[in-house]
Amino acid sequence: MSPCLFCSIVDGEVPSRMVYEDESSIGFLDISPFHRGHTLVIPRRHVVDGTVDPSVWTEVAPGIVAISDLVKSRLGATGVNILSNAGADSGQAVFHFHVHIIPRYADNPGMGALSHRDPGAAEDLDGLHALLTSG
Ligand code: AMP
Ligand code: ZN
Repeated sequence: MSPCLFCSIVDGEVPSRMVYEDESSIGFLDISPFHRGHTLVIPRRHVVDGTVDPSVWTEVAPGIVAISDLVKSRLGATGVNILSNAGADSGQAVFHFHVHIIPRYADNPGMGALSHRDPGAAEDLDGLHALLTSG
């Protein structure tokens, strides 16, 4: 198994709740969401973070747009925060580039509500996964 958790997810050695895939990237639900439907998009290839190689942004861009559309249409999100941590002091914990897509809802808006994970949003990840991938 790869020493990198996200490479292991790309390889299928570690399970994930995948909601998107294309030739260069995959998207899957975050196990500890900030808000309902919090998803990560990662390149299939191993890149440490988004400051290393500009072309990696192109690889994840279609997934970012598709997942943003998905959480708006399926979950009723009215906005998304799109962010990527680079370096341990930024809060990066997994050193395989990933972009957080955090759906946002009218009842809890603004940057101030982005400061903590929401245990309630982690309660039924399997049901959420089914909702995002059905049809
Ligand atoms: P960061 O702090 O920017 O490195 O974000 C890493 C994210 O990966 C966190 O939000 C974690 O909740 C998430 N995470 C860690 N392990 C897994 C996993 N096995 N499946 C899905 N998300 C994960
Ligand atoms: Zn990796």
